[in-house]
Amino acid sequence: MNFHILTLFPDMIMQGLNTSITGRAIDKRIIKVNPVNIRDFSNDKHSRVDDYPYGGGAGMVMQAEPVYKAYDYLLNSIKQSKENPNDFQKPKVIYVTPQGSIFHQTKAQELAKEEDLIFLCGHYEGIDERVLDMIVTDYISIGDYVLTGGELPAMVMIDAISRLIPGVLNNEVSSEFESLQDNLLEYPQYTRPEVFMGQRVPEVLLSGHHAKVDAWRREQSILRTYERRPDLLEKAPLTEKERKFLAQYHAQNKNSDIE
Ligand code: SAM
Repeated sequence: MNFHILTLFPDMIMQGLNTSITGRAIDKRIIKVNPVNIRDFSNDKHSRVDDYPYGGGAGMVMQAEPVYKAYDYLLNSIKQSKENPNDFQKPKVIYVTPQGSIFHQTKAQELAKEEDLIFLCGHYEGIDERVLDMIVTDYISIGDYVLTGGELPAMVMIDAISRLIPGVLNNEVSSEFESLQDNLLEYPQYTRPEVFMGQRVPEVLLSGHHAKVDAWRREQSILRTYERRPDLLEKAPLTEKERKFLAQYHAQNKNSDIE
């Protein structure tokens, strides 16, 4: 999988991703991270890429031309890297922006199937709308808050997508069940020692009885989602028995709140 990033801060991208699990995946050539510096495509003698907004107002806006040129250069270099450049299909171009739809695990799973992805990182007040209209296919936000630039959101997304690519995680099963899969949060995890400051690991996890461990984990996962992210539960694929269990738990809890 090839991640291409149109950015003003390529070092920030490489420093963030060329480490830990994503760094190892880069070394093993399972993923490729290819930042392209938009500033290299400026026509200005001082390499400026921003200007004042038409209509006035605070801040600066990234100009259309360097962004377009950087994209055009990148698109051609991706095309030339393919065995059959004539069959080449343009990759998705994701503009990371607080104005996009919110990124979530299902989107990460969908994007993990692509061969190439292009991320466009804005700065200042954003990017001239005309070039966005020309090149962007997806507008994605990582949450309802405003950051100073698009590099962190691009890295967040690349990290989340990478770990779904076979071979990136050491243990293939470790991304198999985890939070937000099927709209449930993951069950609590424990490791050695058995007793920490007087707190014991739940007995069932030491029993060696896999079916009981699975049942306990499923129950914990449902309860945790109920307590922390009840909004997810509606879409979670619960059995009839699990829904009854949850209704009972809810009724008991409501009563104990009143008492
Ligand atoms: N003026 C813009 C607006 O109100 O939509 C915000 C610009 S922000 C200061 C600069 C850049 O950071 C954006 O162009 C975008 O690339 C990135 N950014 C900021 N917050 C983000 C978020 N929550 N998700 C994704 N990207 C974000």
